[in-house]
Amino acid sequence: MAGKQTFTMIKPSTFSANHTGAILKMINEAGFTLKAMKITKLSAEQAGAFYEVHKERPFYADLVQFMSSGPIVAAVLEKENAVEDYRKLIGATNPANAAEGTIRKLFAINLQENAVHGSDSDENAIIESDFFFSKTERF
Ligand code: ATP
Ligand code: MG
Repeated sequence: MAGKQTFTMIKPSTFSANHTGAILKMINEAGFTLKAMKITKLSAEQAGAFYEVHKERPFYADLVQFMSSGPIVAAVLEKENAVEDYRKLIGATNPANAAEGTIRKLFAINLQENAVHGSDSDENAIIESDFFFSKTERF
């Protein structure tokens, strides 16, 4: 059965461009409820751990550098079928392939600076939410 929660990050260049408010509006209007949210900054070690699944990929070092380059917004979102529906709302990884009206189509700069992260499975949504939030930070 599909889970009800997913995890997102607004990536550094998108946060610093002040697109957070517009993106949160899209998230709420798509039917997601905020369960937890914070502004924080990843160390290189934390970014490396978060994206460890990609550590053999040629873009890994650049990705870790980028994701630790400035503040991000981390959030847990709730909705029926959350993981799949949020991936639809954000659009394809490469913004050149992202559908019209998606968050990445509207706000991504390029393949690396693609505006937001979204969990790719229920299992990873739990792991990623636990990476950022304690029980007392969730509502
Ligand atoms: P995310 O995990 O950030 O939600 P995704 O699941 O759509 O994105 P992944 O394949 O998990 O895509 O890649 C993680 C991130 O690594 C991408 O969002 C992007 O920032 C970066 N990335 C992926 N592929 C490339 C690539 N070929 N060149 C540069 N950066 C890439
Ligand atoms: Mg991914």
